[in-house]
Amino acid sequence: MKYVDEYRDAASVRQMAEALHTITTKKWTIMEVCGGQTHSIMKFGLHRLLPDKIRLIHGPGCPVCVTPIDRIDHAIEIALTQGTILCSFGDMLRVPGTVTDLMTAKAKGADVRVIYSPLQIFDIAAKHPEKEVVLFAVGFETTAPAIAMAIWMAKKRSLKNLSFLVSHVLVPPALDFLLSSPGQQIQGFLAAGHVCTVMGSHEYGPIAKKYQVPIVITGFEPLDILQGVYLCVQELETGECRVVNQYERSVKKEGNLPAQHLLEKVFICEDRSWRGMGTIPDSGLGLHSDFSVYDAEHRFPKIVKRTHEDNGCISGLIMQGKKSPHECPLFGGACTPECPKGAPMVSSEGACAAYYQYTRKKR
Ligand code: SF4
Repeated sequence: MKYVDEYRDAASVRQMAEALHTITTKKWTIMEVCGGQTHSIMKFGLHRLLPDKIRLIHGPGCPVCVTPIDRIDHAIEIALTQGTILCSFGDMLRVPGTVTDLMTAKAKGADVRVIYSPLQIFDIAAKHPEKEVVLFAVGFETTAPAIAMAIWMAKKRSLKNLSFLVSHVLVPPALDFLLSSPGQQIQGFLAAGHVCTVMGSHEYGPIAKKYQVPIVITGFEPLDILQGVYLCVQELETGECRVVNQYERSVKKEGNLPAQHLLEKVFICEDRSWRGMGTIPDSGLGLHSDFSVYDAEHRFPKIVKRTHEDNGCISGLIMQGKKSPHECPLFGGACTPECPKGAPMVSSEGACAAYYQYTRKKR
């Protein structure tokens, strides 16, 4: 398949790894932001091809993992409300809230449905005019345009029994937060290529300049990732701190302008809490006042205010690159994909799930 096979070619991957060994003279710590990249690294064993001097740490780019616990509690509360249908994407169902999760709510009789496209909610709403259909929408800039389009269509069709619990977050404010965090060791970033396909690359220049770190926009195949690391090390070794685009086959500097215009119409930026990390200014998307009638937060105000996490999960430290999953005392024992104590063990993009799947034994 074009654009995939050549980026999985073993000979090209080995060649790139050799080139990386040649140019690396110092120790460097690089964070891959996206959980999809983390999974590729562990799945293809890319970390084993790197020079010992390069340390890859894993970032917060897993939308399910960063969704705050109070949002999950709110979704569960809505699901348990008489006459509602709560729709969400599969991984969200097993993420623990304060006392339970959506899967358990479903087992107890709540009408919780897994969807694969936001457009499915229109069929569900049409088939159940007597019920309130709520989409629990999570994700980064990558998936936000599809949710924005669904909200825009709901308004255009004047639908009355549809609303959205929006928990979308933005990558650049998170990078800013990570770099300003005490004790942070990140010297360079592999930024998530799909986010930049939507948003372009212009948001990263000020961050690279402010913190003097190179940011390489990187794809997801093995060769993409090694090329991304190579370009990042090249910047570091030569003392440059630029934004470099490895994922040119998908990312244009200006990004996807129609998608950005739609996001501007439907959403506003607001402060948002990230699970395990705290509140990051201007890092979330909320509904613009023109669409507030579709805001599930207004339609179903949260009743129970309780948010405490004291089950020993250290996901916040893992998503900030301060600990690895193997350093969590619960990893592989009390916390497994079958019995997860935290979101990174549930999600298909979570770092703990990647380590569990591909490197079960502690290193
Ligand atoms: S292994 Fe489980 S408990 Fe530990 S950080 Fe990961 S998700 Fe949390």
